[in-house]
Amino acid sequence: MRRLEVSKSTLMRLPLYYRTLDRLIKDGNRKVLSERLGEAMHIDATQVRRDLSSLGDFGKAGVGYDIESILEVLDDILGFKNTTEAVLVGIGRLGSALYSYPGFQKYGMKIAALFDVDSEKVGTNLDGTMILDVSELERVVKRLNVQMGIIAVPDFAAQAVADVMVLAGIVAIWNFAPVNLVVPAGVHVRDEDLAVGLTHLSRDLVIMNEKI
Ligand code: NAD
Repeated sequence: MRRLEVSKSTLMRLPLYYRTLDRLIKDGNRKVLSERLGEAMHIDATQVRRDLSSLGDFGKAGVGYDIESILEVLDDILGFKNTTEAVLVGIGRLGSALYSYPGFQKYGMKIAALFDVDSEKVGTNLDGTMILDVSELERVVKRLNVQMGIIAVPDFAAQAVADVMVLAGIVAIWNFAPVNLVVPAGVHVRDEDLAVGLTHLSRDLVIMNEKI
């Protein structure tokens, strides 16, 4: 994977570049102008040129950038070339939906094992993968040498699950439970909360209505 000298804001935009360029190439395009790319991404064309020049040389701005070359660099930077295996703990409404979503594989993540504490679920299959008892988590993580864990358990259970993950060697946690996890230095936690997006949208709605 490449080491990049790019700003954090550029890095945050890379998945959006990936998605947009992937769609353009599937629609039969080989080159794209910064104006068109900016339009599709709702950002300024100047910003697009600045972002792309920090990633490499993909052609001239006036002629259009070579889409395949940009995608190749993004594959590398975003780690999509090497699939990261993850374990998923908590196979309830959210966990099942996450597991059933085929799109993560495209982004380089494969869910290798599923865990739950509910004896009704343990031993059953979800899309062909058996749900294991959470007491197996440490052993399986160590055996498969998995580095990423996804937490989709209720809030009260999340910290204990994170502790076992860390003990087993997990160094990246994608946490969906509404809890601030305490983890040792060197373990990365990414909290995901759809409610944050909803709050922003509700606030936008209030502002819009005030203007009417
Ligand atoms: P759910 O009750 O449907 O599923 C939770 C699952 O976790 C159950 O299968 C349960 O048996 C299992 N579980 C409980 N304790 C466990 C443990 N110690 N080890 C292993 N498995 C355990 O709940 P849900 O609706 O799927 O929500 C799951 C979590 O995700 C909750 O914390 C919820 O707040 C959160 N959530 C977050 C978002 C978001 O935007 N981040 C959205 C929805 C739900």
